[in-house]
Amino acid sequence: MTDLRLSSGLQDDLRAAGMAALADALPGLVAARMDPRRYGNLPRWAEAVAGLPGLVPSCIALDRDAVTIGTREDACEAERAALREGLMALHPWRKGPFSLFGLTLDAEWRSCLKWSRIEPALAVSGQRVLDVGCGNGYYALRLLGAGAARVVGIDPTPLFVMQFQALRRWLPEALAADVLPLALEDLPAGLRGFDTVLSMGVLYHRRSPLDHLLALRDCLRPGGQLLLETLVVPGDADTCLFPPGRYAKMRNVWFLPSVAMLERWLARCGFTGIECVDKSHTDFAEQRRTEWMHFESLADFLDPEDPTRTIEGHPAPLRAVLVAHAP
Ligand code: SAH
Repeated sequence: MTDLRLSSGLQDDLRAAGMAALADALPGLVAARMDPRRYGNLPRWAEAVAGLPGLVPSCIALDRDAVTIGTREDACEAERAALREGLMALHPWRKGPFSLFGLTLDAEWRSCLKWSRIEPALAVSGQRVLDVGCGNGYYALRLLGAGAARVVGIDPTPLFVMQFQALRRWLPEALAADVLPLALEDLPAGLRGFDTVLSMGVLYHRRSPLDHLLALRDCLRPGGQLLLETLVVPGDADTCLFPPGRYAKMRNVWFLPSVAMLERWLARCGFTGIECVDKSHTDFAEQRRTEWMHFESLADFLDPEDPTRTIEGHPAPLRAVLVAHAP
């Protein structure tokens, strides 16, 4: 098993919040996901993380567009070159940006733009927050920067977990954010312990979206806030796109509801106070190829003749942010 560095207070905090079932299950769940027999690249990624220069940051700023760890003065040129090489071994970097000891890590997504859309709807100060499908932990760190007391990020993709491990090297052990190698379905049932739960960019990847919403509800304390971000299509309360094949070249896209249909799903799952707080088209300023992600990106997913359509002829990506409260 590939060892993970977790924050020092994680298990105690989970127990204190009545989530002992998760604290107890954690070692087994982590071991199951961090198994090199299952993910052959894990040893290579672990080696890249272990080989990163052991720098000491003079500043950590989690409330900026580029999550910042260390300044240029904290590293010499040779160390910065080693840093770049080690981080490049963890390509592709989907979420960012990060500023690491003077190195700008410009990821495929400028996640700071999504953050600026969700931040006004959040009130996470002093809260325990769960970020489902957290990627490399960009938002987990921004949540901490916004005053959250404890952030648990979960993501079943081991590369993203290892990217956070890379960042973790330079963060204090007590810093209350983790990225755990778990899917939402791995969590013990009936946790009901988080004040806020985020699910962003995950719902359309789920074949059973209502089960996803119910599982999110099951993580929230009664009255806790869900923040849901997902792809939607224009239309009324009876509209939902179920693409016959790929959507924007993605094979694993299932249900794209209208906002009104999504509100109905949330209501039927027992959520109250449902509100759509943002709708925005994804553009090339937000999602594009960079030196840190050199695979295809948005420009390759849209119809070159008509950017309001995906390459398959579906409506181009439109994302909505909804908030709701758990019963
Ligand atoms: N939340 C981030 C990342 C979205 S990409 C953002 O909004 O920018 C979707 C992420 O969901 C991927 O990292 C993927 O690994 C993760 N994911 C997919 N299925 C999941 C599941 N069942 N539970 C939790 N995360 C999941």
